[in-house]
Amino acid sequence: MGWYIFFIPLSYSIMKQTLSQLKPSALWGYFYELTQVPRPSGHMAPIQAFMMHFGQSLGLPTLKDAVGNIIISKPATPGFEAKTPVVLQAHLDMVPQKNSHVDHDFEKDPIRLRIEDGWLKATETTLGADNGIGVAAAMAVLAATDLEHGPIEALFTIDEETGMDGAFGLKPETIKGRTLINMDSEDEGELFVGCAGGVNVNVSFSCPQLVPVPSDHKSFLLALTGLKGGHSGMDINLGRGNANKMLFHLLKSLVGKYGVRLATYQGGTLRNAIPREAFAVVTLPSTKVKDLNTYVAAYMADLNALYAGIEDAIKVSVEPTDLPVGLLPEPLQDDVINAVVAVHDGVLRNMPGMAEMVETSSNLAIVKTEGKDVIFQFLARSSSAFMKDQLVSMIQSTCALAGAKVSTSGTYPGWMPDLKSHLMDVMVNVHSDLFGKKPSVNVIHAGLECGIIQEAVGKMEMISFGPIIRHPHSPDEKVEIASVERFWNYLIHVLKAI
Ligand SMILES: [Zn+2]
Repeated sequence: MGWYIFFIPLSYSIMKQTLSQLKPSALWGYFYELTQVPRPSGHMAPIQAFMMHFGQSLGLPTLKDAVGNIIISKPATPGFEAKTPVVLQAHLDMVPQKNSHVDHDFEKDPIRLRIEDGWLKATETTLGADNGIGVAAAMAVLAATDLEHGPIEALFTIDEETGMDGAFGLKPETIKGRTLINMDSEDEGELFVGCAGGVNVNVSFSCPQLVPVPSDHKSFLLALTGLKGGHSGMDINLGRGNANKMLFHLLKSLVGKYGVRLATYQGGTLRNAIPREAFAVVTLPSTKVKDLNTYVAAYMADLNALYAGIEDAIKVSVEPTDLPVGLLPEPLQDDVINAVVAVHDGVLRNMPGMAEMVETSSNLAIVKTEGKDVIFQFLARSSSAFMKDQLVSMIQSTCALAGAKVSTSGTYPGWMPDLKSHLMDVMVNVHSDLFGKKPSVNVIHAGLECGIIQEAVGKMEMISFGPIIRHPHSPDEKVEIASVERFWNYLIHVLKAI
């Protein structure tokens, strides 16, 4: 069992000492150890071995389930045996992102830490505070001899960041508790009581044959760039532009006014990102080239005026390009344009009773020609399974009217808020007592493991909270040191009170 023994150069042991002087020292000590164990998603063996050894060395019941989640149970402290059993949950894996010029092997190298202005950061890589702080907090609870709490089950899931395999693989009998505290959110003073589920919607238009470019046509690359994009769930309420929508609205006008024809198209790259850029190769009669340029310049000015204060650098450009090998047949081209223009994109509905929170949204993430065919890829999200189905149905109907085939994949459940939960009452009251103010109670419009765990094991009372973490999943990731102490104090008071 030597996984967790690493050669630690001097500068790291200084950092270890520095971290162990922070409060709470047990939590920071464990977090330091976690930064020394490689744990990128998909490579869980070292951290699983480390956690097994950790639980066993405390003499606590420790098991690895069939998918590789680690569960460590700790009995109630004397006098607290009748308290509600609590599942403390965090994920073991971290997102391996580094700056491109850096030599760092996430499967071997420890994370290099530094402290700056009250924040703990990594040098040139992700830090793994997402969700290492949560893991370290659960470890500190398991190891503590001076806390008061009911029965604890610490559930450490695997591979959250790449598909939530650990949560999906959980069996109802693996954990006994039906009250769960997830420690994988990143805003202090906020309790998350619901999350969105998601589903991929895949649309395809098949094209029997491209048609030749008319002899009097010239070809151009139309590019729409400079949008902010962002996370397709968390940023969907910001009203930012979708490059596919913007470019297809333009194409529709250009087809109608100047006889523009579409050859190829590429917009968006990731299903969970709002598309920032889109490119179309088009042709048009050479007599209309001047009109095209004038219209595009005016469209760009209109977009920038329309999005003032939201987007600040929308660019639409026209450049001559090589003649394409062929064009989409006109009826297919028109169907594709109509489908993109008509289909729902963005927020569909906010949460009943929580006016500011998005409940249901779609992101038309990718539109592209692929060979002769055209495909769309959406990510549809909702906290409500019913609304998620209705949204998929809307997209399906719109695209079916245009003659496309529609399928879904990768569906995962959301978590509808239970505003009457006992856990929520306790956590709101403890927060008010400790910090003199109520926490805000929110729903996150993205996937959390909570939705999947509930689907896997049955109805649970759940809440997600955490310290202040900024820029997770990027080399700028950082955790605010002082917020970790408040997070810990909050956690231990909740465990005592529940
Ligand atoms: Zn996370």
